[in-house]
Amino acid sequence: MRVPAKVNLQLAVGPGREDGFHDLVNVFHAVSLFDEVTVTTAPSRPETGLTELTVGGGLGSHLSRVPLDGTNLTARAAALLAERTGRGHPVTIHMDKHIPVAGGMAGGSADAAAALVACDRLWGCDLPRRTLLDYAAELGSDVPFALVGATAVGRGRGEILEPMAGPGRFHWVFALSPHGLSTAKVFAEYDRLRPDAPEPRADAALAAALAAADPVALGRALSNDLQGAALSLLPELERTLETGTEAGALGALVSGSGPTCAFLVGGGAEERSVIDRREADVVAALEASGLCERVVTAYGDVPGATVL
Ligand code: ATP
Repeated sequence: MRVPAKVNLQLAVGPGREDGFHDLVNVFHAVSLFDEVTVTTAPSRPETGLTELTVGGGLGSHLSRVPLDGTNLTARAAALLAERTGRGHPVTIHMDKHIPVAGGMAGGSADAAAALVACDRLWGCDLPRRTLLDYAAELGSDVPFALVGATAVGRGRGEILEPMAGPGRFHWVFALSPHGLSTAKVFAEYDRLRPDAPEPRADAALAAALAAADPVALGRALSNDLQGAALSLLPELERTLETGTEAGALGALVSGSGPTCAFLVGGGAEERSVIDRREADVVAALEASGLCERVVTAYGDVPGATVL
């Protein structure tokens, strides 16, 4: 399975709810940074139970943050499906990771979506898509979007999805931080900084920019209510955002709960050479800054979890 990372084009966060979650307006955009998840029947029952996990990929220090026990979201996806269908048998799950870990790009959620679809096939469950989406929502607020991909607005905890069609392709640069940020800690910091947060609302300017495939308007409309909290926890991100913006990015923001920073470098009807030049300038400035562990480029949107 191939499954994409996401960047949030808008992340509006309401006040904390009684159940500890927050109401969100979350515009997800799937980008061409993919994890590959391979699920095979285990030759014998793993000591660890239903699933045996392995991880690889070119993410350096990030890989050590991926748990290889039952807390991994792929193991939780397999366990949930086995429990609900009664058809589970032991599997080996290999994650080839290219999505930053604890980076605000929903890599764990992406892997969970991939494992859900792969186990559904391997175990011959053949569940309707609606049921898979319901199970995905149980696993986490960002998991249903990883199944669906493209661009969509999520409401509730982010799991109630509505597609947001747009004709354009957009190009991005991502600055990966050497640090991880815990999503829970970023939300807690948000609650501390914004105890009076208003109800979240969809941004009409963003929807118009997408409908018109206008990269300049999209760059201006990008917004993330969690950015202040992420910057409060990792102040160096401010300089990362400034570096990409000064190098010519059309828009910059912290992705989700961070610390990955996303830079829009063009798209829509722009000439490819214009986009390439802007992209090269932003990449060079970020690499020279010494602020990031790695700089990668990607485009969006792309489809959700896909069987290879
Ligand atoms: P989000 O954007 O959804 O808030 P994130 O991109 O910041 O999430 P993830 O990469 O999904 O963060 O991982 C968050 C934590 O989840 C990791 O620190 C790790 O402990 C745990 N985790 C569980 N399963 C996975 C997985 N398959 N890949 C990566 N991390 C995982």
